[in-house]
Amino acid sequence: MTTMESLIGLVNRIQRACTVLGDYGGDDNNTFSSLWEALPSVAVVGGQSSGKSSVLESIVGRDFLPRGSGIVTRRPLVLQLHKLEGGSQEYAEFLHLPRRKFTDFSLVRQEIQDETDRVTGKTKQISPIPIHLSIYSPYVVNLTLIDLPGLTKVAVEGQPESIVQEIETMVRSYVEKPNSIILAISPANQDIATSDAIKLAREVDPTGERTFGVLTKLDLMDKGTNALDVLEGRSYRLQHPWVGIVNRSQADINKNVDMIIARRKEREYFANSPDYGHLANKMGSEYLAKLLSQHLESVIRARIPSITSLINKSIEELESELDHLGRPIALDAGAQLYTILELCRAFERIFKEHLDGGRPGGDRIYNVFDNQLPAALRKLPLDRHLSLQNVRKVVSESDGYQPHLIAPEQGYRRLIDGALNYFRGPAEASVDAVHFVLKELVRKSIAETQELKRFPTFQAELAAAAYQALERFREEGKKTTLRLVDMESSYLTVEFFRRLPQEVEKAENPAASNSDRYAEGHFRRIGSNVSSYIGLVSDTLKNTIPKAVVYCQVRQAKQSLLNHFYTQIGKKEGKQLLQMLDEDPAMMERRQQCAKRLELYKAARDEIDSVSFVR
Ligand code: GDP
Ligand code: MG
Repeated sequence: MTTMESLIGLVNRIQRACTVLGDYGGDDNNTFSSLWEALPSVAVVGGQSSGKSSVLESIVGRDFLPRGSGIVTRRPLVLQLHKLEGGSQEYAEFLHLPRRKFTDFSLVRQEIQDETDRVTGKTKQISPIPIHLSIYSPYVVNLTLIDLPGLTKVAVEGQPESIVQEIETMVRSYVEKPNSIILAISPANQDIATSDAIKLAREVDPTGERTFGVLTKLDLMDKGTNALDVLEGRSYRLQHPWVGIVNRSQADINKNVDMIIARRKEREYFANSPDYGHLANKMGSEYLAKLLSQHLESVIRARIPSITSLINKSIEELESELDHLGRPIALDAGAQLYTILELCRAFERIFKEHLDGGRPGGDRIYNVFDNQLPAALRKLPLDRHLSLQNVRKVVSESDGYQPHLIAPEQGYRRLIDGALNYFRGPAEASVDAVHFVLKELVRKSIAETQELKRFPTFQAELAAAAYQALERFREEGKKTTLRLVDMESSYLTVEFFRRLPQEVEKAENPAASNSDRYAEGHFRRIGSNVSSYIGLVSDTLKNTIPKAVVYCQVRQAKQSLLNHFYTQIGKKEGKQLLQMLDEDPAMMERRQQCAKRLELYKAARDEIDSVSFVR
């Protein structure tokens, strides 16, 4: 393949990709349209029956367009030519009939007519909605050509008055784009000064750098006249040379003269023409096709850098979006397991950030220890428990029939036991409070893990597993903190009691009338001793309960929240793993589209790379 062919082939492929992508919709439509704009296509402009469709056909080298007198072309036809390897079977395909390959080109012509009628009805009306046709053939150069309805001056029977303007507006919309190359078709048997094609081309391309003047119907000129003034650029100067053409006449069409013969006849016409013989190698449809390709190559070369940067930008955007959405799930169990572990790790990372700081939430655990627990400890109903009345009751009950002599050992123990019992409440409450903070952090972390977004099923399973683990840690936390409380009551701090002042001294002068007051002071002292011992214990528990909670719950959550889950997953089979990775369908759809686009853009980039280096 020559550089030129591959360059133009590249353009076509990118444009085709754009068309396909355009159909997918999506929000990178801007990229599509700017890509499309960046690449040239060839549009024919000219008066009705000037031979536009005939010129296009001979560039393609195939009979497939409806031709004839009157308004035949009534919708734009966007025609993409794709060169195939030599020996391949030629075929055509319509965008509106995907997967149907036409090998009979007369059926292509029929389908163009039918598809035109489908939109406009069997009238002389026109429609700006284009028909997209691709032709795959070893005999074409890669090009995008656009056939358009001919410019007219008056509306004929069955056409609205506005049609003249409508056609002009439609044609103009195609040729005014700076990326369009204009084939301005004028018939040689009319004065060039009256050419609609040249008139419009001059308006939209005043410098003439993208206009190619084509003179048809040279064979139909009056005897004794020739078009040399036009063809040699004396009548109307264009940047590019004029090309003269001899298409098939209506009689040829009626006789089904085929393209090969038509081309040969055209070649012979120029070779043998006394007027144009000296221009023979710069005339004819084959030469026109070559001229166009060369021009396209230079245009494309000039635009490659901007196309490349546009494509690279789109690729970057798509890749980051794909990273965001997550890559497709692999099919083998090993890779699925890997994906699941990755997901878990991503979740754990965020969960730890919540605990360790960086993300909010961990501070609420400290709040439990710093506020909630001390407040709960302060609120314990110890005053009631150590009221004079209750102390007396408990002490007397423990003494039994013989009141104690010096200090009520049993009474002390019972009072302390009773008081310590109250500590079970705050201990359990701390465990629960931290449990709920952790649970909330799990929930938050799942919601914040981007990677999990597409897997609603897995999210649920992960949450369930984490909650179960937290539940186990809570059990452990309760056992441990309650044990701390129990330990306090199972062995009292001897020293504390040894250091208590001896009561006996205070009972130095026991008078009968004073015995009641003595007893009252005695019990009050017992109460206050117990109270200060409990205060001591309370201070200890205020410090040890948080340690136990962190040890059993927070530390465990950080280190082994998903351990049990991992073991379970390890036992699962491929099918079960896949079920866990059941995706959110909308997400899946979005990713597939993204991946498809990315693939197309990457292919385009590879192609550009491969042709830009060939010189
Ligand atoms: P369009 O309306 O511009 O697309 O023109 P067509 O390609 O449909 O051609 C209109 C008529 O002009 C057809 O009957 C063609 O056979 C005839 N025609 C076009 N070009 C030539 C030519 O170079 N020589 C002759 N003799 N007839 C031509
Ligand atoms: Mg036509």
